[in-house]
Amino acid sequence: MSEAKKYAGGCQCGRVRYDVQVDLTQPVIACNCSMCGRAGTLLTFVPTSAFTLKSGGEALTDYKFNKHVIHHLFCSVCGIKSFARGVGRDGSEQVAINVRCLDEVDVDNLKVMKHDGRSR
Ligand SMILES: [Zn+2]
Repeated sequence: MSEAKKYAGGCQCGRVRYDVQVDLTQPVIACNCSMCGRAGTLLTFVPTSAFTLKSGGEALTDYKFNKHVIHHLFCSVCGIKSFARGVGRDGSEQVAINVRCLDEVDVDNLKVMKHDGRSR
């Protein structure tokens, strides 16, 4: 049973804003790869249909590394990476949400699942 709810989120300076429909009763992912490990990102993945970028598209800088399958988008003004775009294992387009960037979400109340991205 999905308990997806609508959340608003975005970067620190407020240029990048989005709405997302996501089930935060499911564990979020703490990845230890060279990107997430440094940034302390907590991630959850949603289909593109659950994500609406409302503003800030022009402020986003696209950074790709490793296999270049994920577009790590960060705000060129404040530097916060509030979401990323990529393709899931099944080939569908997905959005990776940094749940730390969602309004009114207490990350201390979320279940966290560790993902060993460093060794892959
Ligand atoms: Zn910003």
